[in-house]
Amino acid sequence: MLDVKNLKVKVNKKLILQGLSLKVNRGEVVAVMGPNGSGKSTLAYTLAGHPQYKAASGLMKLGKIELNKFSPDERAKKGIFLGFQYPVGVTGVGVSQFLRLAFQKIQNKKISPLEFRELLNKQAKKLKVNKELLERSVNEGFSGGEKKKMEVLQMAVLRPKLAILDETDSGLDIDALKIVAEGINQVKKDNPRIGVLLITHYQRILEYVKPDRVVVIKKGKVVKEGGLKLVKELEKKGYEGI
Ligand code: ADP
Ligand code: MG
Repeated sequence: MLDVKNLKVKVNKKLILQGLSLKVNRGEVVAVMGPNGSGKSTLAYTLAGHPQYKAASGLMKLGKIELNKFSPDERAKKGIFLGFQYPVGVTGVGVSQFLRLAFQKIQNKKISPLEFRELLNKQAKKLKVNKELLERSVNEGFSGGEKKKMEVLQMAVLRPKLAILDETDSGLDIDALKIVAEGINQVKKDNPRIGVLLITHYQRILEYVKPDRVVVIKKGKVVKEGGLKLVKELEKKGYEGI
């Protein structure tokens, strides 16, 4: 479904992604691992269409669609979702209001605030997101764990084809990590055809969300691919040893 071929991305004139290729099939969870600064977030931003992260060359296809031609909001409508490593607060915009608008745009249909609220409450309950958060402005004053749970809730509500989760596990204590991981698994169960690009720097979350494949990137390139065994190898040898 997602096909990235020989992708090169320059940021501020510096070549960050240096010919990166990877694929995510329908229903597949692909873990992207790599040390700090290897280009994981750059890949996520480029796929989502961040204006500072433009493909200099290479291909990025979602099904038959070349993503490069589309703006971030159009990409979202085509089924791309990005869960941020550092979710930002949006003062004055309520969670429910924000998500209803996004839902309407992406699904291309109207839903009343009341009806949407029911849907949101149901998902929040499933994903163990405190209902009180839904009354607040997006991420405003949320703890690290609450912000990441909110990203998973957004993914559940918006039902993307491809979810890119950028270090959704970082900065979480073990209980929050479990809830976030269970949330990802729940979304997969409800939508088995979803493809997930699970970007992480630690193997910890992969004990709870089992990837179908693991891709290691270093210096903007894929240096190794494998299954869960590769995670164990990384644990032993570190990124230096790969
Ligand atoms: P990772 O997410 O794997 O830790 P990043 O994609 O955030 O890595 O960063 C990869 C490299 O690109 C780093 O050297 C980083 O400093 C650089 N980089 C990323 N974004 C920018 C930017 N907006 N301006 C300058 N350099 C950037
Ligand atoms: Mg990053």
